[in-house]
Amino acid sequence: YHGKRGSSDVVVYAGEDMSHPTKWLMVQAELRHALARDELVLHYQPKVDLRSGEVVGVEALVRWQHPHRGLLPPSEFLPAAEQSGLIEPLTAWVLRRALADQAAWTATGRSWGVSVNVSARNLEKPGFADYVSGLLAAHGTAPHRLLLEVTETALAADTRRATQTVIDLTAVGVGISVDDFGTGYTSMSQLRGLLIAEIKIDRTFVRDVTEAPQSQAIVRSIIALAHGLGSRVTAEGIESADVAEWLRRAGCDEAQGYLYSRPVPWAEVPTYEITGAAS
Ligand code: C2E
Ligand code: MG
Ligand code: MG
Ligand code: MG
Repeated sequence: YHGKRGSSDVVVYAGEDMSHPTKWLMVQAELRHALARDELVLHYQPKVDLRSGEVVGVEALVRWQHPHRGLLPPSEFLPAAEQSGLIEPLTAWVLRRALADQAAWTATGRSWGVSVNVSARNLEKPGFADYVSGLLAAHGTAPHRLLLEVTETALAADTRRATQTVIDLTAVGVGISVDDFGTGYTSMSQLRGLLIAEIKIDRTFVRDVTEAPQSQAIVRSIIALAHGLGSRVTAEGIESADVAEWLRRAGCDEAQGYLYSRPVPWAEVPTYEITGAAS
């Protein structure tokens, strides 16, 4: 790793083969300790309203402050957590931390929504919706101020249990966001009958949207689909002002990306109106 290292930078170690079974077992054992020792941390990436330029919410993104290996990105440990069942205590930890952090923001006058990513496996666990509504009550948080980001694949037809959990969550008022939209394996009919608060356009379509007619067609149709379903639409991975402007003109509601802010520790989340977002 070269260059200046900020507190929000994630260090990726090349050459370590995470697919090796013993490596996975090591990661799982270490992760169990990490949860016990409170070594996980949340970074937050702001979500910006494309019309006003205001921060309207934050997405919690988990990292592991590893005692020897530095700050690890989710790709280094989430697959192992999902395979081992550790994803359940991990998600519980993320939810509790995010709701506590949100309560602290609320106390300083920032009524931000908070988005938490959940795995398919969380949705398949019976009682997950009850667990979430219990946590909301314990933190005194209005359910609509929590958005749970799920992938399309988690809503796939064979996971009836996951779809029921989504229905139960929306019944208590929790917002559901479909993450990385356009990259999964869902047919659109799976969205039917569900109350979707937000659709997030995957950054693979966002990246080249000012130049590539195919990406433009895909992005325009996701925006139309989202609005037709009564959902807000958010674009992820915005790195340039030109892309932000294109999306704003195309009617996209909200945006996230390095242009505005990288994911940063709680205390460093920008509170101001982000200049350049609106025009
Ligand atoms: P995601 O939910 O789609 O999150 C967006 C990812 O893109 C994040 O990577 C973020 O740091 C990165 N990103 C944001 N803006 C930009 C940009 O402008 N350019 C580029 N190149 N990248 C950008 P991160 O933090 O490494 O997270 C990766 C994935 O891990 C997330 O993708 C999400 O699926 C998963 N994840 C993160 N935290 C959690 C968690 O607490 N629970 C679960 N179940 N999954 C999580
Ligand atoms: Mg997400
Ligand atoms: Mg995403
Ligand atoms: Mg993504």
